[in-house]
Amino acid sequence: MTIGVLALQGAFIEHEQMLARLGENSFEIRQRRDLERSMDGLIIPGGESTVQGKLLRELGLFEELKARIQGGLPTFGTCAGLLLLAGRIENDARTHFAVMDITAVRNAYGRQLGSFHTEADFAGVGAIPMTFIRAPYIASFSGAVQALAEVDGKVVAARERGLLVTAFHPELDGDPTVHTYFLDMIRTIK
Ligand code: GLN
Repeated sequence: MTIGVLALQGAFIEHEQMLARLGENSFEIRQRRDLERSMDGLIIPGGESTVQGKLLRELGLFEELKARIQGGLPTFGTCAGLLLLAGRIENDARTHFAVMDITAVRNAYGRQLGSFHTEADFAGVGAIPMTFIRAPYIASFSGAVQALAEVDGKVVAARERGLLVTAFHPELDGDPTVHTYFLDMIRTIK
């Protein structure tokens, strides 16, 4: 398969490395021309959602990518990527692609606990390492959304049809569970 990785800002290289490790192809999406390539799925990395949102609009990528995601392009968003996909952000008036029926809270863990590492079950497949960096969590969700992981009673991973989001950074821990889940998701949707 070939996965497009949004490469405007943030931790995109680590996603590419994980995909390579799993034997999949990827390419970077940086400008409109890159959207001419065909992709089986899209990854939106962690970083800063406001910066990525601004660059997506300035570079003329926003409308086209939103239409593709709404049209069923399987998409995996980590951290800032979760915020770009969230239908509502409780503490930010601005939303971005707003394609997923979740309400996220931005920078949800306060200053002291802004970044932390833990382990928790993911999608019933067992405990995996989870690194949180000024992360959001999912305060509520509805419709077809399924919660896939919880930490301290907060939902930190979810899926809605072809959309997958994690508040943590599975690309940083060397554990392929979440990427494998995404690739399997694409195969079953196809
Ligand atoms: N705090 C960032 C935001 O609001 C997300 C942090 C991350 O992606 N690691 O976009």
